Amino acid sequence: MPRHKIYQKKHIQVDGLCIEVLRKNVKNLNLRVYPAEHTIRISVPRRTPDEIVRSFIEDKLPWIRKHLAKKNSRKPPQKNLQYTTGEKLLVWGDEYELQVNEINSPPKVNVTEQVVHLKVRPGTNLNKRAMVLKEWYRTQLKEEIPKLIEKWEPIMKVSVREFGVKDMKTRWGTCNIRAKRIWLNLQLAKKRPELLEYVVVHEMTHLHERLHNKRFYGLMTKFLPDWKALQDELNGRSSMRSC
Ligand SMILES: [Zn+2]
Repeated sequence: MPRHKIYQKKHIQVDGLCIEVLRKNVKNLNLRVYPAEHTIRISVPRRTPDEIVRSFIEDKLPWIRKHLAKKNSRKPPQKNLQYTTGEKLLVWGDEYELQVNEINSPPKVNVTEQVVHLKVRPGTNLNKRAMVLKEWYRTQLKEEIPKLIEKWEPIMKVSVREFGVKDMKTRWGTCNIRAKRIWLNLQLAKKRPELLEYVVVHEMTHLHERLHNKRFYGLMTKFLPDWKALQDELNGRSSMRSC
């Protein structure tokens, strides 16, 4: 798993709301509301008892309801970034603050719990900063994709010969069946890891079936029963998930 290993994922009900609880190797409880996806998600340290999670959420109920009420409040956080300190970046579905340090050494990106630290030489322009971050996102994906391919190959009984990462405008992934090569969209590094996994499984399913037909979707359902909810989330369609 990227950065923060997820030990457990479950849903709990608090005051009629369905909350996704992720137990991760993090230090703090971190609550996020995604109105467009009707999703409330909380990351908590691995050993946090349910009662602590519940009372934390109960304290935040007015705040949660306020955020849920905001219609179409989903701002595109990645638009028109200037790549300066204080801006928000998405990494694996979580929001981070960008902190830019100008120092005289080769460009570097590293991440702490809430902050993406971008080190660039003084005077580095916007395009170059964007490029450094893009390459960092690419590295993140190139670390995760092979693990997913390795996980799914024996389950799906297909083999992927090659994969690549491309900043595509219109598709999340593509598959060249004859070459057994899949391409994944660079933007997936900004989405939840489950969404990358969904796209990898989708593209690998094409190694069984070229078309998006009944057989294809039947296979998807066999491999990844909740693929439809993941697809809707990826495409920004709201899908109310039940607890
Ligand atoms: Zn497809």
